[in-house]
Amino acid sequence: NSFAVSLGFIDIPPTRGVLVCFEDTSEKQQASQMRRDFVANVSHELRTPLTALMGFIETLQGPARRDDVAIDRFLGIMQSEAARMERLVRDLLSLSRVESEERVRVKEPVDLGRIIGSVLHTLRPLAGESGCEIVFDPPEGVLVPGNSDQLQQVFTNLIENAIKYGGKGNAITITLDAAAPETSLRVPAVIARVADQGPGIDPLHIPRLTERFYRVDTHRSREMGGTGLGLAIVKHIINRHRGRLRIQSVPGQGSEFAVILPRWSAPE
Ligand code: ADP
Repeated sequence: NSFAVSLGFIDIPPTRGVLVCFEDTSEKQQASQMRRDFVANVSHELRTPLTALMGFIETLQGPARRDDVAIDRFLGIMQSEAARMERLVRDLLSLSRVESEERVRVKEPVDLGRIIGSVLHTLRPLAGESGCEIVFDPPEGVLVPGNSDQLQQVFTNLIENAIKYGGKGNAITITLDAAAPETSLRVPAVIARVADQGPGIDPLHIPRLTERFYRVDTHRSREMGGTGLGLAIVKHIINRHRGRLRIQSVPGQGSEFAVILPRWSAPE
């Protein structure tokens, strides 16, 4: 722990004396260290594709100027590096938006079955490319108080990860229960589970997965188009909804990401 000590004199009759203040500054120091790490990470993540782009532009202006095959190949790489920067900026904006919000303002109930259904519709082509089978039998009327765009983002990130990291031919099972069996939320809750049969995650990594830029395998994450921010965004959105994210995994068998959210109760 770190402390700040300040000294002062008191001379307000009848009180005379010396005042010594000890302030525990560990939390402040930790917060400012986290800010510095975050800025360093963002700079590094942006500089890598930028350096590649600059290199290819120079090559295209010089040695590869008249080489049609090289031009085609380099333009392809430049496009994917630019797309990587775009994804990073998009995720940074999402993160800053959810971080700057205290709590979601809730006016309407959100139907989780519909949200997951529409995410699956969007991700079907990606699942098809990976030969991945997704099973989801949507129950009706599982309602939670929340922001539908943000909850859509939660399930997009979780299902996209299950497809990306599950490996070829992986089977993904999504279940949705109107009554969570255990509820650490102390209010009636619902539970949505996204389970894959991929390689799983070593238990050592699990507590850190929702940190910004934390990846189990950085090279694989980048190759898959990951920014390292997906689960940080998921965690923030769920916290804003007063819910909980539970991650369980058995290496060699698969992983399960469970989203536990308070259930909608109609106003009197
Ligand atoms: P990324 O953009 O790298 O996918 P995330 O924050 O979404 O970042 O995930 C963090 C890390 O957690 C990933 O890099 C990956 O190593 C691991 N991970 C996430 N989901 C799964 C999964 N379903 N199976 C195995 N590993 C996963």
